[in-house]
Amino acid sequence: MQLYNSLSHKKEDFVPREAGKVSMYTCGPTVYHYAHIGNLRSYIMEDILEKYLRFTGLDVKRVMNITDVGHLTSDGDTGDDKMLKGAKREHKTVMEIAKFYTDAFFNDCKKLNIKTPDVVVPATTYIDEFIRVISSLMEKGYAYEAGGNIYFDTSKLDKYYVFGDFNEEDLEVGVREGVEADGNKRNKADFVLWFTKSKFDDQELKWESPWGVGYPGWHIECSCISMKNLGEYLDIHCGGIDNAFPHHTNEIAQSEAYLGHEWCNYWFHVHHLNTNSGKMSKSKGEFLTVSLLEEKGYDPLVYRFFCLNSHYRKSLVFSWENLDNAVVSFNKLIDKIAPLTKEAPAEIDTAEYDRLYKSFDEALGNDINTSLAVTALHDVLKSKANASTKLNLIAEFDKVLGLDLIKKATEKANAANGASSDIPAEVMELVEQRKAARKDKNFALADELRDKIAALGYEVKETRQGTEINKIG
Ligand SMILES: [Zn+2]
Repeated sequence: MQLYNSLSHKKEDFVPREAGKVSMYTCGPTVYHYAHIGNLRSYIMEDILEKYLRFTGLDVKRVMNITDVGHLTSDGDTGDDKMLKGAKREHKTVMEIAKFYTDAFFNDCKKLNIKTPDVVVPATTYIDEFIRVISSLMEKGYAYEAGGNIYFDTSKLDKYYVFGDFNEEDLEVGVREGVEADGNKRNKADFVLWFTKSKFDDQELKWESPWGVGYPGWHIECSCISMKNLGEYLDIHCGGIDNAFPHHTNEIAQSEAYLGHEWCNYWFHVHHLNTNSGKMSKSKGEFLTVSLLEEKGYDPLVYRFFCLNSHYRKSLVFSWENLDNAVVSFNKLIDKIAPLTKEAPAEIDTAEYDRLYKSFDEALGNDINTSLAVTALHDVLKSKANASTKLNLIAEFDKVLGLDLIKKATEKANAANGASSDIPAEVMELVEQRKAARKDKNFALADELRDKIAALGYEVKETRQGTEINKIG
């Protein structure tokens, strides 16, 4: 397969170091708040990459950190501590905040069909490992102590700006947030490995270290967690494009200084989700979360589908109108699959199967071109192949796409059958009356009917996709 590599700025053949196996690392969330759907776009596209690698028969081991200490509001070691900020905001301890938002993150992932990585490591559980690697960097002369903190000395490297495509504004990352430059640094790009002296006297989480009581910097987490779990060589490191500098640049600096050789071969960066007013962030405009999508009646998987319709290396513009368009095309897709689920099984048409499978495989094999993969899915529906052939292909494709296509289509086919489905006619009759009541804006009656339906053991819910009826319990 071909994969774009941010290090070389071109598409390359992907060749894992060890035949048949892939080691993959993902920067995890900083658990001080909910993830916004822009963050989640990266996790969706990384999930597609992982699932596609598995689809081609590779054995993937994927590792992710949870940042529960050390991440400041600026990625360049300045500003406030994000975890502390979250704890103050909610009058809780840092560990309570970490637990709550870690659970919330995985809950969102589940709703978006994002597989949990094989290994997940909260940074606070790896303090000894960070200290060990920082000590080694000190011994090797790559790190120094100044003003109580331990810094990585970027001047010791032949090349620090490895991704090489940053403008001055990116390099001024500390300064641009209106924070004073750190006078302890020997070079502007140096970064903190271990804090002992900082402005956060109220820092809750601190540990003993050879340099005094303190806490680790953010960047060292990922290097240590990756090397400990995936060894000295890493095949693919992924993350959002805004992590490329300084976070990933710093990860490479310290990992390679520690190891004494090159570390990771392929860098996979997912681009931003923008709104019409610019890059999405937690502080600006509406805070878009999976829960908000649900409150507004959207199925989270429609958001996943929306993301798949554009390439991960292009920024994607989110608007409610764009999401509504995705709802329409997703529903059409399910509508086309639904009748296939009712047809009698037949022998697979292998020639058509192979042809259609190949076009899907080629789409994703060409730098994870998900929109072409969705086109390949539409081609299955247009083909002359029988229903069994189509359903088998769709089920296979959905192992990567993760849209619950067969499940949703089957539910739709059953619901369309109405009377012949498991839902009693009495319930269906009340559902129809309730629809009429809602249409007349007689919400009191609609509520009354909903209660009657509940008394019969069914729950009725309005969503953008229409009325949903589910058996309670
Ligand atoms: Zn990272």
